[in-house]
Amino acid sequence: MRKIKSKSAFFRSIQWRLVLILMLTTFVLMSVVWFFLNARVENIFYEDFKTNIETNYDALGINQDNTDYQKLLKDLKENPIIAGFIHGPDKSYTVIDKGTAEILYTSDVLYQTDKIQFRNDIFKSENLLQVLSQNDPNAVGNKQKYTHSERGDFYDYVKTQRLKDGEYVLFFKYSRDRALDVLNDFSNAILVSTVISLFAAVIIGSVLSRTITLPINDIMHKAKKITDGDFGYALEVKSDDEVGMLTQTFNFMSSRLKGMLTEITSEKKKLETILNYMTDGLIAYNKTGEVILTNPAAEKLLKSKAEEIVSFDEFMTVLGIELNIDKITSENKIVQPLHKVQYKDKFIKIHLAIFTDENNETDGVIAVIQDITEEHKLDIMRKEFVANVSHELRTPLTSVKSYTETLLDGALQDRTTAEQFLGVINEETDRMTRLVKDLLTLSQHDGGLTLNFEDISISDLVGSCVERMKREAKLKNQELKTRIKQRLPIIQGDRHRIDQLIVNIIGNAIKYTPEKGRIMVQAHCDKDNVVINVEDNGIGIPAPDIDRIFERFYRVDKARSRQMGGTGLGLAIAKEIAVLHGGNITVKSKPGKGTNISIFLPIKKPHQQAL
Ligand code: ADP
Repeated sequence: MRKIKSKSAFFRSIQWRLVLILMLTTFVLMSVVWFFLNARVENIFYEDFKTNIETNYDALGINQDNTDYQKLLKDLKENPIIAGFIHGPDKSYTVIDKGTAEILYTSDVLYQTDKIQFRNDIFKSENLLQVLSQNDPNAVGNKQKYTHSERGDFYDYVKTQRLKDGEYVLFFKYSRDRALDVLNDFSNAILVSTVISLFAAVIIGSVLSRTITLPINDIMHKAKKITDGDFGYALEVKSDDEVGMLTQTFNFMSSRLKGMLTEITSEKKKLETILNYMTDGLIAYNKTGEVILTNPAAEKLLKSKAEEIVSFDEFMTVLGIELNIDKITSENKIVQPLHKVQYKDKFIKIHLAIFTDENNETDGVIAVIQDITEEHKLDIMRKEFVANVSHELRTPLTSVKSYTETLLDGALQDRTTAEQFLGVINEETDRMTRLVKDLLTLSQHDGGLTLNFEDISISDLVGSCVERMKREAKLKNQELKTRIKQRLPIIQGDRHRIDQLIVNIIGNAIKYTPEKGRIMVQAHCDKDNVVINVEDNGIGIPAPDIDRIFERFYRVDKARSRQMGGTGLGLAIAKEIAVLHGGNITVKSKPGKGTNISIFLPIKKPHQQAL
């Protein structure tokens, strides 16, 4: 099978074609030579026969005045001037009466054996018929070179001769056998020459064509290697002809291709790096909506493996976007390219764009996906925050407004009522002041707070905070005690903020512990931190609320907190201060039993942060 294939490949090769062309050319040339040689030989024989007769017959000087039939016959038979040209085994002459077309005399041997056949033969001659049909006394028949006969072809030359006793036609006949022998010899020689020439053509053609096909084969193999990405070395230019130029051009093309490929590869790598490291997800679809490319961010964002990412139409259905690939390809644009939608537990922003082919027709769609869950949450938090602040301010403002109106309406006259009302207004104003102060602190944190780090002795700081809070605890007949390890390490921190943090936590313990309760403030240190522990036996915090009490405005019991003068911002601020110092706050609590809040502040010198 392979052999057949390679054989047919050979016959399709340029080498074979060139050999074939050379063989055909040789064959055609030899045929032309053969043809012209045949014609020429034939011509030589006929012309020789005809000219000899014409010249020598004329030399006999026969005319109507000096010759009659008998003399003509005698001359023809005996006169040496012409005898050599008309006598012989393959030559004959015949005298015919022009008027009757009767054969009067012939030297032809055939006539002796078969008169009818001889007559039939010579009357096949067009030359003879031509002469016989003409009235011209000088008519000559030399129209046709030879006449075909079963007994052998013959040349003939026919001449009219008017004599004293009548008009005669002389028919000179010359067998074509000798000419055919010569022609055969020539044909054989030409046949042998043709065979030798064809053989030579095959050899010369093969050798010559190899000089063309070898470099072409080299180029072909090189081209195959280039297809496999192997550029290798440049081909050797062996000549400065067209094949050499082709090799040179091919080398140039190969080097340009290599350069372009390197450029494309580097561009591709850059693009791959960008795609791999960009935080936005990217999915490319072809014009039938099938996925052709995804990047890791898209897979992470959609929580799917590359092969699980669905077709464009399915993806749009999942996202609830009314759009499909057919619509895009028919319109050749995307009317609304930007969408913000929910996908599973995430909020995503998806930007769609088409890419086009060389005819500016849609070739596919690129979807760039951004995870805006955090942004979305922050947006909701911001809205909630504004709503909370408005709500927190509205309550005291409403009571200030209503008490003021009542006072203006006449209650001012009643001193006791007026004092009571003014006391409430004062309290509400304090609450608003506290709220605004807390909000300001938070806004300072959000806007990037610069902490003023200094060496702080926690035992001193906790002692001073407790001292200040004792008055408040005494108002509720609470027992506020401290247990502080004397040799606590000095920490680095913003004294004012840490003071605020400790006061806040002790304040909450006092607030959410009933009268006669006990509050214990302890300070010790573990491996990395100084730990300040504030424990009370107050109302405690239900388990589901524990994780949320550090959120802004979150309060377990809103009414009680407000009644206690709380803003719902204290723990949020406290947590932020601890975190800013590289520390943390944890809570343990049991409703009805009490709460234990631990503040961790790192011993290691934290870096000064500007957040
Ligand atoms: P507030 O200004 O309302 O006290 P905080 O942010 O300081 O706000 O506290 C949030 C909520 O946590 C409080 O409303 C309260 O319900 C609860 N809480 C804080 N500390 C204690 C505590 N020691 N005992 C019981 N509940 C507490």
